[in-house]
Amino acid sequence: MKGMVSLPRKRIMSGMRPTGRLHLGNYLGALENWVRLQDEYECFFCVVDWHALTTGYEDTSDIRANIREMAVDWLSAGLDPERSTFYVQSRVKEIAELHLLLSMVTPVSWLERVPTYKDQLQQLAAKDINTYGFLGYPLLQTADIVIFKADFVPVGEDQLPHLELAREIVRRFNNFYGPIFPEPQPKLNQVTMLPGIDGRKMSKSYGNDISMAAAAEDIKSRVDMMITDPARIRKSDPGHPEVCTVHSFHGAFSRDELAQIELDCRAGQIGCVQCKRNLTARLQAVMAPLQERRSRYIERPELVDEILAAGSEKARRVAAATMEQVRAAMRI
Ligand code: SF4
Repeated sequence: MKGMVSLPRKRIMSGMRPTGRLHLGNYLGALENWVRLQDEYECFFCVVDWHALTTGYEDTSDIRANIREMAVDWLSAGLDPERSTFYVQSRVKEIAELHLLLSMVTPVSWLERVPTYKDQLQQLAAKDINTYGFLGYPLLQTADIVIFKADFVPVGEDQLPHLELAREIVRRFNNFYGPIFPEPQPKLNQVTMLPGIDGRKMSKSYGNDISMAAAAEDIKSRVDMMITDPARIRKSDPGHPEVCTVHSFHGAFSRDELAQIELDCRAGQIGCVQCKRNLTARLQAVMAPLQERRSRYIERPELVDEILAAGSEKARRVAAATMEQVRAAMRI
């Protein structure tokens, strides 16, 4: 309307490590949400390749291929480079500079008390991650966020301590040098947890995932392998949908039919073969537009590289402007 001034959109920053092809759990857990956020926010989405080194520095042979593959997954999910900026962390060197400067004001004890730090040291005991890089990665994450002066960061409950640390560091920095950075706020995700086809957590390393790149026939064969209610032998046996992996997937992808599926299963009115067939059809319909978009990019890696280059250049300009302010405030 004439005379109305549109306010600048609030800014979101988020990232993912390029550790290989994404699966449906990643799609539901993060990407679907990111796609929605693009409508309302100015979004910066980062392929955080330096973060991948914090736990996988010994073998870097796949990183470049993984970066491109991840960008294709993002594009196929519907992230739009015209509306969002997506970029590669290591191409925005200003982030490394800010990480260094923030490290000067961050007490080591703040990093040591991040709950995931000790957890991960134990869980990844087979790897040597007693490194400065691993201890400092929440600080690198802080630099990732605040260099873009992000207003919000989409997070799950488990990542709240990292964001609280970022906020504490911002307060300490602003206290010394003046109000340069806003305190980033959490934007809590409604995450739909998807199990793997064997009922455990979906993970590429367990081999129980459904890849975002799965073609229609791959989706069918993965659904056919799903574990159902072991107590059901015949179709007429009353089922227990709460123990069934197919049911969990229907909960994520067929919400409109879930109540009926549960009724029919409990009453022995539907067989598991038919139930799987229905799920396959539903998943294939959901994934069809993703496959369509993927096909546009998979044959044209140069286009994906161009998108990442342009996004990284744009991100670098924003980061460089912030660093001008930081250096001036710190008088260096
Ligand atoms: S009918 Fe469907 S929900 Fe019930 S046990 Fe079989 S596959 Fe699972």
